[in-house]
Amino acid sequence: MAVDLSKLDSDLRSIIDERFDDQVNWLARLVSLDSTRGNEAPCQAWLASEFAARGWGVDQFRISDVEIVGKRGYSPAVDVDYDKAVQVVATLPNDAPDGRSLILQGHIDVVPPGARELWERPPFEPHIEDGFMWGRGANDMKVGVAEIVFALEALKGLGFEPAGQVYVETVSEEECTGNGALATLERGYRADACFIPEALNNQLLRAELGSVWFRVRVLGKPGHVLNFNRASNAILAAYDYVADLEALTRRINEEAKTHPWFGHIENPVKFSLGKIQGGDWLGSVPSWCEIECRLSVLPGHPLEQVRQRVLDCIKVSAERIGSAQTPTLTWIGFQADGHVFEPGSDAEATLARSHETVFGSPLETFSQTATSDTRQYDLYYGIPTLCYGNRGYDSHSPRERTDLKSMAETTRVIALFIADWCGLRPVQS
Ligand SMILES: [Zn+2]
Repeated sequence: MAVDLSKLDSDLRSIIDERFDDQVNWLARLVSLDSTRGNEAPCQAWLASEFAARGWGVDQFRISDVEIVGKRGYSPAVDVDYDKAVQVVATLPNDAPDGRSLILQGHIDVVPPGARELWERPPFEPHIEDGFMWGRGANDMKVGVAEIVFALEALKGLGFEPAGQVYVETVSEEECTGNGALATLERGYRADACFIPEALNNQLLRAELGSVWFRVRVLGKPGHVLNFNRASNAILAAYDYVADLEALTRRINEEAKTHPWFGHIENPVKFSLGKIQGGDWLGSVPSWCEIECRLSVLPGHPLEQVRQRVLDCIKVSAERIGSAQTPTLTWIGFQADGHVFEPGSDAEATLARSHETVFGSPLETFSQTATSDTRQYDLYYGIPTLCYGNRGYDSHSPRERTDLKSMAETTRVIALFIADWCGLRPVQS
């Protein structure tokens, strides 16, 4: 049946506002489940039971159940047990699909809280103040999962179900490899479009940077500290490698000035030294140091080329520093391409209509200097993928918070999108 968006929106608004407290409580429950890497299973089990209770078919599987190594989009996973990495795909019952299909996806993995002293309240005890929910993962992106579920619930409450086939996916590994999303694709789940409601201030993701993660193991010349010099101290030598990697980043940012999607952003490419460890004993010159780093990748810059530049940089540094040996470099996480969501798709036009119906203003797009799961569906599997979600602030920090009014508005946008994209029909059962 043809969908009258503005009529539907006024009905959606009533029902979503009516159920606002339920949605907030549901989100709070989700945020209270610590789903940092390796600990996602209880959170996924809760979601699986929530989905099953709604009559959705639930496929709960582990990344290790799917062959993903070497597949396009695969990133090496180290120090992690994929037997524990549970993914959930819910299939909405639909005996006779009659419309376009859709994947609604949210990642439930969250980044570690970091220093607890910097948190005013425990990270996994969600707290509501002035219209915001605070807590690790509230904004990035458990709120998106709550929007997906309550959008579908709102349509059902109005007596409708999507005519096309809908899948709801909750994945892990978004924050480090993207292998959760890849596992759902390799398990066979595909659709005519994918929608990932990352909290992006109600703007559509037009372009994003990829990233590479790597570990550099620097060796020194062990001995008594009496014989100390900078080159033989592996920890101090590591700082010199970092300085040279920062110089490489400045060169790439010079090249970025003419980039079609990132030229307007100052220094879009970020190098980050994220972890460092080394040495064993204060009376000995540190014989080893490991630094773990992340470098952004511009769309159009092939991963292989970026990796080669990092390798060359380390090699040249080793010569300059006078190291006895070139450090070993290991790729340890994200090997993610930068990516552009090309303008002009039907999916974008559909979202633009939904957005405009709710907000009364045109949909804006932006380039993000971070990485999402979008590339897995869009770039590697040819599924047009929208990344768009509510307003929120300070993800990955102790001040992470999500705007709950914006959650309700975005739930409307998503429900309208489902209606417009998949078509609607009266609930069958
Ligand atoms: Zn996210």
